[in-house]
Amino acid sequence: MEFARENILRLEALLQASERPCIVSHPRPDGDAAGSSLALASYLLARGKKPQVLLPDPLPSNLTFLEGAGQAAVFSDDERAVRKALETCDLLLCLDFNCLSRLENLGPAVRECPAPRILIDHHLFPERESFALVFSETQVSSASELLFYILKALPSVGGDIAALPAACRTALLTGMTSDTNNFANSVFPSTFAMASELIASGVDRDDILDRLYRDFKESRLRAMSEILLRELEITPQGAAFFIIRKELWDRYGLQDGDLEGLVNIPLSIGKVRLSASFRESPDGIYRVSLRSKKGVSANRIAREWFHGGGHEQASGGKLLIGQDVPSRGDVAAYVRKALCNL
Ligand code: 5GP
Ligand code: MN
Repeated sequence: MEFARENILRLEALLQASERPCIVSHPRPDGDAAGSSLALASYLLARGKKPQVLLPDPLPSNLTFLEGAGQAAVFSDDERAVRKALETCDLLLCLDFNCLSRLENLGPAVRECPAPRILIDHHLFPERESFALVFSETQVSSASELLFYILKALPSVGGDIAALPAACRTALLTGMTSDTNNFANSVFPSTFAMASELIASGVDRDDILDRLYRDFKESRLRAMSEILLRELEITPQGAAFFIIRKELWDRYGLQDGDLEGLVNIPLSIGKVRLSASFRESPDGIYRVSLRSKKGVSANRIAREWFHGGGHEQASGGKLLIGQDVPSRGDVAAYVRKALCNL
């Protein structure tokens, strides 16, 4: 991956001048948000900086193994700590999201922070005007992959990946593995090259797979089974969707991140070209996840029907009671309409 030399030198200078950089990622952080943020934090720590990771929401339990996860300041848990970090911060590194409104409640505080903002992201349509420096590539698997190649290009790293801290390398491979759903989606030649270099440098991929995919509680799988059995609907146009009711969520004691990956499963059916998940939350908002096969744009449907966006084949958004539909009972009909033209 080639970067403009001036951008790399500018980044190097901004990092060098910073003492207290903050790293920000998106709400309901996933493996790529966590992996890229914590990788950058551990690199900056080894460089003698005092980095602080700021997250809108807590990490799901399967990501807390990453080094530094416990030190992240979480806006929904401790708003004061996050605001305080933003007051003293001298550089803001924004990872795995493309515009400040994506940060939801944390957005205004980040916008008010006077430190220069750097974007490192792989989503479509980056909000360039909000950033002093932009690294935006959509032909990469993940923000973690993009960060890997940026770190490699920094003169201070000199292309020597093995010189990065072990925690940084582990977090990078974790982020990429998670965003590609273990090499299933959005994989490029550069993605395999990155994995190959990291594994050759000693990163334990088997351990990452154990942590990411083989350490959940039983109730998660039982909840998934019930949803697929009772809630899955497939439209004549080849769209699959299911609604995750709050009642079911509470009954199984689920937490954010527990049903990560469930939306991919209906794509295993030959005739299904798009799969959508709608998670009911107490505030009258349904969280929407969309996945599609090549030739169908999950991104278009997220933008046109669900106030969202993301990638061509993996997008998200929301459905609002009182705005999009009058009541909860109208959600399924709205979804059928949204998914009738793939
Ligand atoms: P997920 O379904 O895993 O939550 O999200 C899939 C993709 O869609 C991610 O790349 C994520 O950044 C993006 N995404 C999720 N929710 C939203 C949203 O509300 N707005 C936008 N613009 N993108 C979203
Ligand atoms: Mn990502």
